[in-house]
Amino acid sequence: MPRESRLPVPIRNALPEGRILEDPATRLVYEYDAWSIVRNPPLAVAFPESTAEVRNLVRACIESGVAWTARGAGTCLSGGATPSGGTCLLIETSRMDRILSLDPEDRIAVVQPGRINLELSRAAAPFGLHFAPDPSSQSASTLGGNLAENAGGPHCFKYGMTTDHVLGLTLVDGEGEVCRLHRDDGLDLCGLVVGSEGTFGVLTECELRLIPTPTAVRTFLASFSSMEAACRAVAKIVSSGTVPAALEILDRLSIEAVEASVFAAGYPKGADAVLLVELDGEEDEVEAERIPVLRAVQSEAPLEVEETSDPEQRARLWRGRKGAFGAMGRLKPDLFVLDGVVPPSKLAAVLAEITAIGREQDILLSNVFHAGDGNLHPNLSFDGRNPGERERAMEAGRRILKLCVDAGGSISGEHGIGFEKIEHLSYLFSPTDLEILGEVRRCFDPAERCNPGKVLPLGRACGEGSSARRPGILPSREREDP
Ligand SMILES: Cc1cc2nc3c(=O)[nH]c(=O)nc-3n(C[C@H](O)[C@H](O)[C@H](O)COP(=O)(O)OP(=O)(O)OC[C@H]3O[C@@H](n4cnc5c(N)ncnc54)[C@H](O)[C@@H]3O)c2cc1C
Repeated sequence: MPRESRLPVPIRNALPEGRILEDPATRLVYEYDAWSIVRNPPLAVAFPESTAEVRNLVRACIESGVAWTARGAGTCLSGGATPSGGTCLLIETSRMDRILSLDPEDRIAVVQPGRINLELSRAAAPFGLHFAPDPSSQSASTLGGNLAENAGGPHCFKYGMTTDHVLGLTLVDGEGEVCRLHRDDGLDLCGLVVGSEGTFGVLTECELRLIPTPTAVRTFLASFSSMEAACRAVAKIVSSGTVPAALEILDRLSIEAVEASVFAAGYPKGADAVLLVELDGEEDEVEAERIPVLRAVQSEAPLEVEETSDPEQRARLWRGRKGAFGAMGRLKPDLFVLDGVVPPSKLAAVLAEITAIGREQDILLSNVFHAGDGNLHPNLSFDGRNPGERERAMEAGRRILKLCVDAGGSISGEHGIGFEKIEHLSYLFSPTDLEILGEVRRCFDPAERCNPGKVLPLGRACGEGSSARRPGILPSREREDP
């Protein structure tokens, strides 16, 4: 710890020597996350290893009047892990990456939040199990971050979002108390915490459901000369009653970016859209489902159809989809990824309007999306060094999210609200709604010091010390010191 430390003494003493960094280089590295539109250096970065250490840090922050933000891998695409303001302590979970238990019989794993998503599935693989939620960032993002964002992924169409795979959790709440919440314990507070983007407390343990790894998997890649045809093929697959494990679409610009990058997957050149479909389950189940899928695809006059169950070929086809956001770096230095949702039946019409908005704002716009559940990812590529480009990208973003809501959808399917979409909440909620949501949040964090300014606008508790919380509102038998 440097002698000229700016840190309040309680925080400085909360962890063993060397596990709180406040040098300028560290603060610079942690001033933003993958969203990168807003930058705020943290006061310092703390690296706890256990629930007890997180509790000590949070209590020290409360004593010192300092806010805090938890951070996993920083892959958040809505600014959730960007420190709030310049006086916020960043609680980094990379040293909390242990699997505390893995029970193959009950198919349950208890992990610390800093464990990387894919590493849990790798540890479960010898037992024929895996963790189903598979965000495209799964080789980097942490389970704590996945829970905080209620992350989705290509295979969530069939298997559900992260919340569907969480059985329980341990949280150090906004008052520095350790709460252990379980799905089966009356009101589903656990479900309330998942998706709260770090504003209810810091997750320190996650009890997760593992599922059997399917014995048969078949992947299809179909290319089309128009986006409309690809969307119609999706609608026909869904209405046939088949539930593919994944239904993903990339548009022409995304295909070109992927093929020019290290993620090149051999996607056909000259196509306006490629559709990835994956079926999984028992061999006979997959065999039966491939017939309606092929029928739907063939009815839309595809340019090419590739079908494979070979693991290497499947990995190649997925490499392009999973690397698509990374490949966007080839188009422009800055990327603004949106995450709107629309009813699947309106996909083609909304995409046409999105393209028109991109053209009007003169912004390079590409689309990669979870077609099965209507979760769009319009990617706005721009160069923030050019006057006006950032502003035009933001304006396009605003118009696209409003369009999604007007079409009966939402402003976020899986990337969260973070800083990014606070201004768009009014498309969905009235001021009264927001006040009620703020009251819910203050049950966990009365003074709004836990990742302030994310998900919800700062409410009346901030700076006033008021509290919506009655003492003991969270499960009392669980309010123990670790
Ligand atoms: C290339 C790329 C592809 C992506 N693909 C997908 C995708 O397919 N699906 C999807 O849903 N998302 C995707 N994302 C977004 C991102 O990966 C997810 O939101 C992910 O869940 C974030 O995990 P993280 O560990 O990086 O969390 P961070 O970015 O570090 O944090 C995210 C939020 O979680 C909070 N948080 C982190 N750890 C804790 C904790 N222990 N306790 C409480 N709060 C905590 C933070 O405060 C922040 O609000 C993608 C991102 C990238 C860069």
